[in-house]
Parts: sequence; C-alpha cells; structure tokens
Amino acid sequence: MEADVIVAGAGPTGIFLASELRLHGVDVVVLDREPEPNTIIRALGLHSRSIEIMDQRGLGQHFAAAGTRYPLDGFFAGILRSAPELDTTHPYVLGIPQTETETLLTRRALELGVDIRRGSELTGLAQDGSGVSAALADGSELRARYLVGCDGGRSTVRALAGIGFPGEPSRREFLLGEVELTAAPDEVAAVSARVRETHRDFGAGPVEGGAFRVVVPADGVAEDRTVPPDLEELKQQLRTYAGTDFGAHSARWISRFGDATRLADAYRAGRVFLAGDAAHVHPPFGGQGLNLGLQDALNLGWKLAAAVNGWAPEELLDTYYTERHPVAADVLNTTRAQSELASTEPGPQAVRKLLTELMEFDAVNRHLIGKITALEIRYDFGPGPELLGRRQRDVRLGQGTLYERMRTGRGVLLDRTGELVLEGWEDRVDQIVETAWDPQTPSLLLRPDGHVAWIEGEPDDDGGLSPGDQADLVDALATWFGPPSLPSMVQLAEVN
Ligand SMILES: Cc1cc2nc3c(=O)[nH]c(=O)nc-3n(C[C@H](O)[C@H](O)[C@H](O)COP(=O)(O)OP(=O)(O)OC[C@H]3O[C@@H](n4cnc5c(N)ncnc54)[C@H](O)[C@@H]3O)c2cc1C
Repeated sequence: MEADVIVAGAGPTGIFLASELRLHGVDVVVLDREPEPNTIIRALGLHSRSIEIMDQRGLGQHFAAAGTRYPLDGFFAGILRSAPELDTTHPYVLGIPQTETETLLTRRALELGVDIRRGSELTGLAQDGSGVSAALADGSELRARYLVGCDGGRSTVRALAGIGFPGEPSRREFLLGEVELTAAPDEVAAVSARVRETHRDFGAGPVEGGAFRVVVPADGVAEDRTVPPDLEELKQQLRTYAGTDFGAHSARWISRFGDATRLADAYRAGRVFLAGDAAHVHPPFGGQGLNLGLQDALNLGWKLAAAVNGWAPEELLDTYYTERHPVAADVLNTTRAQSELASTEPGPQAVRKLLTELMEFDAVNRHLIGKITALEIRYDFGPGPELLGRRQRDVRLGQGTLYERMRTGRGVLLDRTGELVLEGWEDRVDQIVETAWDPQTPSLLLRPDGHVAWIEGEPDDDGGLSPGDQADLVDALATWFGPPSLPSMVQLAEVN
C-alpha cells in the first residue's frame, strides 16, 4: 500500500479531511486533477460552527486575521431580522473568500505532512477486502486501505462507486465572475438595486483591487457545464437584465453554477466514502455548502483514522452516514425553501411576508439561524439530557480554553470531580480535571469532533459522582473509542 487513505479532491473538504487524518498519524495522499490551486471564489464566508472548528484545530487566529466579521442578520433567505443571541463565542459570519480558506487549509495540511499531488486525476477505482486501487489519468495506479471522494458535485468517485445521486437537476443557471467595469460605482449600485427589485438573483458589488463580483441569470441551462462561459456571454446577460453591461472588461475569472439539489443515497460503498459536494449539492442560499463539507470532514476524519489505527468499534464508520446524511438532507430542504422565497411571484412573496412576521418570535428566528450556522445540530446518541449529541461550546478553563485543548484531535474527558477513571483509553482521550469549573456543569465526554458523548448524572448529596457514572462512562468510551488498550482498573475491580 502506498498510503492508508487516498483523498480525491484538494478542495476545502478534501484538504481539511486530510489534516484531520494526519492528526492521528494516518498516511494520506490527496489527488487533484487541476495542476494549480483553484482561483474561482465561490464561497464567501464561514458560519459559526465552522469558525469554532477552525478554533478547535488551532486555525482560529489565522482565519480571524484573514477575514472580516459580519452580523448574521438576514442570513435566512435574506429576511432582515436581527440574529438571536447564539450559544457560541463566534456569533457572526466570517467573510473570507474560498480561495483564502483553501490557502489556509492547504498550508496547515502541508505542515502536518499531507502529500498533495496536483495534476493527478482519478479515473478508475477497484476495491477488494484489503484495500482500494485508484487508476490515474497518466496510467499509473495508487493503492490504499480506504479512499474518500471529495471531488465535488460531479464526483467521479461517486459514479465509479455506483452511488446514486437522486434529486432535482438544475432548472436555472447563473453566471458568476469578477470583472472590471468602466461604469462608475454609484451607477452600478443604483442599477443593481433597481434590478434586484424583480430579480433577487442579480448582483454587482465591488471586491478587492477595483474589480466587481457580478452574478446574473444565464440564458438557460448549459448543455456542457464543463465549458466555462466567456466575457461576451456575461456582458450579453448583463445587458438583458440590467440594460447595460457596465463596460465589463478584464475578467479575472467567470464561472457558471446551477440550482441542482441532490443528495447521495449512500455515503459509503465498502472502503470508499464520499464527503462535501461529492455527497450533496444545492443552491448557495445561506452560504452553507463549504461549511457542510468541512463538517463532514470533521465527522469522518477521526472515525476513519480509528479504523486505520485498528481501534474503531464495529459500527463507528457507519455513524458517518447516520449522522451526516440527515444534516445534509435538512440543508437541502432549507435551501429549497430559501430558493422559493427568493421568487418575486405573489405566492412566494406572501409566504415570505408571513415568515418575516414569524421571525419576530425569538424561537423561530433561533431555529432558522441555528440551521444556517449549524449550531443546532444534534446527533442521535439515544435518550439523555438535551446536551447529549450536541457539540460543546468553548468554555474557559483554569488554563486556556477547552477548544485550545482539542487541537490534537483526540477525545476529551472534562472531569469536574477528579474521580473519573480513564485508564485504558488515555492513548485516545485526554482527561482534563477542572474541579474549580462551573459547579452547575456536569463532567462530559467529548468526541474528537466536540460532540457530547456522555454526561455525568445527577450528583450525590455531597456533590460527588453518582454510583452509576463510572460504569456509564466506560460504556460510552467503548462505544466511541473502542476497547481499552489494557485491562482497565474498572474491569479488574469488576472481576475482583
Ligand atoms: C456561487 C456559489 C457561491 C457559494 N457560496 C458559498 C458560501 O458562501 N458558503 C459556503 O459554505 N459555500 C458556498 N458555496 C458552495 C461551495 O463553493 C462548495 O460547497 C465547496 O467548494 C465544496 O467543497 P468540496 O471540497 O466538497 O468540493 P470542490 O470545492 O468542488 O473541490 C473538489 C476538488 O476535486 C477536484 N477533482 C474533481 N474531480 C477529480 C478527479 N477525478 N480526480 C482528482 N481531483 C478531482 C477538483 O479539481 C476540485 O479541486 C458556493 C457555491 C457557489 C457555486
């Protein structure tokens, strides 16, 4: 085997996944068919949960320095309501171009020792009981124990693995580009505002370096999406919608995107997995696609590393699908709804007006913004307190913060008593004893992705652990982190 894991696609999902795997010592090769990094700026920002994740992995400061904070107001369907108070240290959108996000993630991946091979297109794959062989366009072959397709919406891996991609095809397409305009900025702003009264999907706004980012509906749906649009096509559509092409010239890049909404019907076929746009595509309303991909990678990375390192419990890899597929289905649903709400037809406008009224209610506002920020996600870990299955927000500890202690990508036992026994799992989980921590907050077991896997029960009369706590903790450790590496003290005590 040349590697433990092959990742096809060096977009944000693939690169972040590769870093997650490297945290656990996994040998990763990332293949990308493009010889040079992407220059097209699709995503414009990170939402709260993704910013938290960057924080958890020690990248928070780099992202903060490269981005700009914007309020979350209006992020659901453009309905201008103030965002509710959110349970996070990052209650904002971090405006940062996708190219910059990819640069920061790539730098980190290289630091961690990820082998990134550009100009390397995956064209075939075959798997057997021990591994996956990837055929490359240059005729060579690469073999690894697992392969993850992070190769975007038109994923070759998905097709080769025979995974279905049901949903709706694009009904509409749009041209998006960065160009210079000879028209004065005031004129561009005034014309844009007028056109947006009837076409919410039109836009022209200044970006760095004196250029403008423009988006305009395309003339129908392209037969061959791989052929990029040219400047003349963009100018023609500007004239059609705005009555002027603003003197567009000197395009930095122009691309085309559609409103197809599709979700893979499996995230795994044997040793082959899908993540990011390869698993789900939807229109960009709410700005969630890249965020969803990063969160897929966070979920899959430690689980796949556990399988490579030989301690993954039997069912662990399947929880990637059971946890992430419903999240993507919900995002698709939300973007479908936002897409309808963008219509200027009377019916959708009436629904929009009602929803605008409903968002006056804090619970409604919180519910909808919770979907966009991904803060409200709760995985189904069975019955238990409300926090079980949710991600734990960052908290200040005696020394530093919780997220600072999660940079290694290991699990965390946050122990308020100092009495919990972790023996047998210390190689996978860090114990943080914080006896001075908020006495109202129970001890917690966190998975490497920060989701709460176990919560201490009601304390006894003296504020100590209740009798079943240690046994419940051991169950949770075995469920998520596999068997103990040595017979644990707890097991020996049980035997005796
Ligand atoms: C107009 C627009 C605006 C958007 N705005 C936002 C936003 O504000 N916020 C947000 O979160 N998301 C946004 N998105 C979505 C976001 O851009 C995508 O969800 C994100 O790029 C997905 O990342 P990925 O790594 O999964 O896939 P991609 O970014 O598509 O990367 C896939 C990679 O795989 C490579 N590849 C493909 N085939 C092969 C092969 N056979 N072999 C090897 N390599 C291959 C490609 O070269 C590419 O580098 C927007 C999208 C659009 C179109």
